[in-house]
Parts: sequence; structure tokens; C-alpha cells
Amino acid sequence: MTTIRTVAIIGAGQMGSGIAQAVALGGYAVSLYDVDPARLPLAHGVIAESLARRVERDDLSADEAQAVLGRITDAPDLEAAGRADLVIEAAVEDEAVKTEILKSLTPHLGAETLVASNTSSISITRLASATDRPDRFIGLHFMKPAPAMRLVEIIRGIATSAGTYEAAVAFAESLGKTTTNAEDFPAFIVNRILVPMINEAIYTLYEGVGGVASIDKALKLGANHPMGPLELADFMGLDVVLAIMNVLYDGLADSKYRPCPLLVKYVEAGWLGRKSGRGFYDYSGETPVPTR
Ligand code: NAD
Repeated sequence: MTTIRTVAIIGAGQMGSGIAQAVALGGYAVSLYDVDPARLPLAHGVIAESLARRVERDDLSADEAQAVLGRITDAPDLEAAGRADLVIEAAVEDEAVKTEILKSLTPHLGAETLVASNTSSISITRLASATDRPDRFIGLHFMKPAPAMRLVEIIRGIATSAGTYEAAVAFAESLGKTTTNAEDFPAFIVNRILVPMINEAIYTLYEGVGGVASIDKALKLGANHPMGPLELADFMGLDVVLAIMNVLYDGLADSKYRPCPLLVKYVEAGWLGRKSGRGFYDYSGETPVPTR
């Protein structure tokens, strides 16, 4: 079994930064790479703020927080990222982009290096085939926010070896996470169930059954969900939600997965939720304001 000491993360967005924090908290040395270098200081800032909140809550000592931050460095290119014992791809949910990253990364990988993707929905078997090591490739699906959420969904591609699976489970558990095993079908377990529900909430809004506040309140108080579906969509990123619906629609060829036209329109407008400042809520003020 590969001994994992160093981890590289490709893509320093919402998930990449959260995974970097979770992995560094687990004691590993982490390097972060992003095609857009401007994302790296933003990611370090988000991680520092999140750790500072934990220090305030007495969840972590200031020295520990400093040590965690010290374990996270930048990888200037894929060559540097490829030197890690485990590389986790966490770039945008776009199969063409992920395939290109994996193809470019492959020549720089060490013989023993394990490669994982944090994809929310895309076939692990297909992504694995972009590398020279489908046996050492696996889906490691962290939930958002990665440092706080306990579950990591683990997805084996058709060629993933038993050793890679065991190493992935041991790695996730070493971060204090619990794992669940999903087969390699579009969107796996969590998003196969969650994202069509969110899409249905958007249809409910689109058809005027209820406004944003009513829909979220209905599910929070009526079904005991911690977040309403529209609030959750904004939190995940509407581009991510749409990409997952498209993978379900294309992969399962069933019209019940048709993305809601309102979701498509919001993404086309650049209204991506929290990360762009506007989605089903407007985040420009102190408290989020429903937009419909
Ligand atoms: P994001 O938009 O916040 O970040 C994506 C990052 O990828 C950006 O920093 C972007 O610059 C970078 N990127 C784009 N092309 C790249 C390339 N060629 N090389 C390196 N970096 C590149 O998106 P996110 O929400 O962090 O999602 C990332 C992945 O995590 C996706 O596969 C998504 O499905 C998955 N995921 C998302 C959530 C969620 O709730 N948002 C939860 C679990 C998993």
C-alpha cells in the first residue's frame, strides 16, 4: 500500500481550499495548484479565516492553526504537483477540463503515486482512462465544506485496485472522516439523490408554486433539512449544480433529469450563488436577500 505523506490538490476553488485545510489538519504536507495563480492567495486567505474561527471557538490552539497553515504550500505547476504521494483533482466540474489536467499531469507522476478526483458526478472509469494508471485512480468525493463535513464518498472505477481502495479509505479515515462506498454511476449516491431534489425546488420556483423564502422555509421546517434547497444550491455553486444535472441527464438518458431552464438562465447570467455574490439570494448586504 502506498504510504501517503504528501498530497497535491489541483484546483484551489471552494473545494480545493477546503480539502487542503482538511488534509493539512490531518497532518499531511499539502501543495495547491491552480491554472489561475490569483486563486492561490485567495485560498490561503479562506483557510486562514476558517482556522481563526476554530481558534476563537477553542477548537484548535493558535499554534496548531499556525502549523496547519505552514503545511500548505503552492505548487507552481503540474510537474511539482505530480511529485506528491497522492494527487487530488478538484478543478471545475467539466469533463474536458479534468481530462486535460489528468493527461498533462500523468508524465509527472511518480510510479507509486495515487490519483483521485473530487468530481461530484463524472465517471471515475472515464477519468481514470486519461491517466496511465486506472488501477491507482479513485473517486474521493469530499462534501462541502470539506473540513467540517464528516462523509467522504469513495468511488471505484472499473480498474481501481483493492490496494488503492484500501489506501483511500485509510486516508479518509486518517482525516477523521467516515466513508461510504458508491458504484461508478452518474453522480454516485449523494448527488444522485440531492441534486434532482434541488432541481425540483428550482422548478417549484420557476412554476410559481412558491417564492425562494417559502421553498427554503418549507423544506427546513417541514422536512427538517438544515438548509433549504435553494440556499444549498447557492452554497454549492449553481454552475456545479447544473453540471451535475447535465451528467445525470446525459448519463442516464431519462427526461426526469432535465435541468430546470431557470437554473440554466442563472448560470448563463453568471449568477452562480454565494461565490459570485448572487444566485437565488443576493449576498451583497449583511444578510442574504431572496431574489424572487
Ligand atoms: P470552484 O469554481 O470554486 O473552483 C474550481 C477551481 O478550478 C477554480 O479555482 C479554477 O481556477 C480551477 N481550475 C479550472 N481549470 C483548471 C485547470 N485546468 N487546472 C487547475 N485548476 C483549474 O468549484 P468547486 O465548487 O471547488 O468544485 C471543484 C470540484 O469539486 C468539482 O469537480 C465539483 O463538482 C466538486 N465538488 C463540489 C462541491 C460543491 O458543493 N461545490 C462539493 C463536492 C465536490
